[in-house]
Amino acid sequence: MNNYILKNGIILTPFKEVDNHYLFVRDGKIEKICSDLEFETLGGCYLDSYELLDAKGYYISPGFIDIHTHGQFNVDANQGLPKPLTMSEIRTGVTSFLPTLWTTDFKSMLESAGKYYDFINTSNNKGAKILGINMEGPFLNPLHGGQKPENTRIPSKKDCNDIFKLKDFIKIMTISPDVENIDIAVKFCNENNTIISIGHCYMEPDQLHDIVKKGARLVTHMFNAMGRKFSSRYIIKKEDELYDRSGIIKTGFIEEIMLLDNIMCELICDSKSIHVPPVLLKIIIKCMGVDKLILITDSMKPAGCEPGKYSLEDGRDIFIFDAEDPVGRLEDGEVFGSIETMNRVVKNIRDIAGIKIKDAVKMAAYNPAYLLGLDGNIGSLLPGRSADICIFDNDLNIKYTFVNGEIVYKSI
Ligand SMILES: [Zn+2]
Repeated sequence: MNNYILKNGIILTPFKEVDNHYLFVRDGKIEKICSDLEFETLGGCYLDSYELLDAKGYYISPGFIDIHTHGQFNVDANQGLPKPLTMSEIRTGVTSFLPTLWTTDFKSMLESAGKYYDFINTSNNKGAKILGINMEGPFLNPLHGGQKPENTRIPSKKDCNDIFKLKDFIKIMTISPDVENIDIAVKFCNENNTIISIGHCYMEPDQLHDIVKKGARLVTHMFNAMGRKFSSRYIIKKEDELYDRSGIIKTGFIEEIMLLDNIMCELICDSKSIHVPPVLLKIIIKCMGVDKLILITDSMKPAGCEPGKYSLEDGRDIFIFDAEDPVGRLEDGEVFGSIETMNRVVKNIRDIAGIKIKDAVKMAAYNPAYLLGLDGNIGSLLPGRSADICIFDNDLNIKYTFVNGEIVYKSI
């Protein structure tokens, strides 16, 4: 195993941004960060046992952690394809991730989950680390989100036993609190240390507070696949659009989420703010702070691919109509999932919300590690952490990706 000294980069720990420092990587771990002065004082005595790598003024960042991806580069996570996924993630600066199974046929979801489980237990993986599975369903409200309604299910002990037989592997499960018998799923999640994420739903504020009391800690792609309530009494139609003429703004569970102290929110930030408008991005950052937000791709199979038609696991086709369009669409043009990659969402949120690059990186690396209880090992460049690193330019083009101190991807 090589040991490295990374020099001439801007280090994002990501709690602070430092330049004129050296990052030491030894035995697969971050050893230390030292200043120019300290390095020179030591008079190069290190250089025998380290390889010096010039970061050429680029950013040196902890590797990104995508807790919500359905695939990319023409690989569909629902087909249970661990190897191509781990090798494609490193191209986007991702060093750990949760393959995320969206709600398709239940039996095939279980089979795919089993393939990831077998992979991490048997293979010598050279790509990004698979930390477990994120199950986006199947206990979802059929009315909210892109899943086929017939694939959603009402929780039963039998279904939960089938899902949770993969011990300690289901790290996150999205459930809709407004689904009948949802407490059965809540109980299984809590007994198996699975993080309850709420989404694909409409609920009253009381239901929100109740599910948080029962242990929910995350919101699945905040602002997306969430229902709103309007009073038809005040709706008027002008030309093709509907307006509320009541003069009263109605609030609901979405606004209440932003006031909660003990919950984190996933955010999709595509380059044209189709998923979340810039004003809402700025509001949620101002209201919840960068510590409670987690950037995700929610990427589907065509992410990173050329325009064209791509077939999904549930039999439908998804299209990229135009290389500039940052979302996948159904044939009729309706938005159907994201096709951004993790390096792109980091760039997008920095540019659209006007935040510092270190804060964008925090949302993409440290915060997901914290949510999963892995921040002592991954998600930052503090001494003792795994040397999971990505190096990128100001446009977030990935130049190097390291996993456990080894260069696993290079584009320079
Ligand atoms: Zn998703």
